[in-house]
Amino acid sequence: MTVTTVVFDADETLVDLSTAVHGALCAVLEEMRRLTPAAAALAVTDLAADWTPVFAAMRAEPVTDIRRAALARSLARVGLEAELDRVAEIFFAARFALSRPFADALPALAELRRRAYVLGFATNGNSRADRCGLTGEFAFEVYAHEAGLPKKPAPEFFAAVVAAAGCAPSAVAHVGDSWDHDVVGAQSAGLRTVWLNRAGVPRPPGPGPDAEVRSLADVPDAVEGIMAASPARGALYGRL
Ligand SMILES: [Mg+2]
Repeated sequence: MTVTTVVFDADETLVDLSTAVHGALCAVLEEMRRLTPAAAALAVTDLAADWTPVFAAMRAEPVTDIRRAALARSLARVGLEAELDRVAEIFFAARFALSRPFADALPALAELRRRAYVLGFATNGNSRADRCGLTGEFAFEVYAHEAGLPKKPAPEFFAAVVAAAGCAPSAVAHVGDSWDHDVVGAQSAGLRTVWLNRAGVPRPPGPGPDAEVRSLADVPDAVEGIMAASPARGALYGRL
């Protein structure tokens, strides 16, 4: 089966989310310090740390709700619980203003289009393409929680991706940074997979992706390798 469609995860694949979140938490902390001297004792790492236990408890819920709960935890550290709505507004305004594609994203998308692939965008988060510098890049976009769609790695999520692509699952290559969501989840649903491993961490055990890349610049060749139908499974593309 020839790959005709390449679908991308958003956060930490196309979109540099961690930089945006760091900047947004800095804006939140600045506001907290304006509101109370007690916040002088807090660091942005304290605010960032509040995400972890909240995310663990709310994993399947919408990202906006998880973020609000994490911010509520941070505000409660210094008695600012009543400021949640306003502080959440500050967070999300900064988070979207600072959300940008990685430097290798737009050139890779352009090259894939030049090679006549249909491009899609599929995210668990709230990184809408048009709010993250990716307006008009995709033939279709799939967002968890729209029309009750469960998050990756749910099979229903990938079924929605395949339905949007309008082709067989094995004609879709899914590209993403999360081993559990973007490799295991997509593979279980019958899609082909390209694992973006920017940091070069060791590959977890179990069936691997169809290809692994260190940079989005290597995705076009990796997808063509899948089309050739006989690459070593999990072939690594690009410089090590
Ligand atoms: Mg991701």
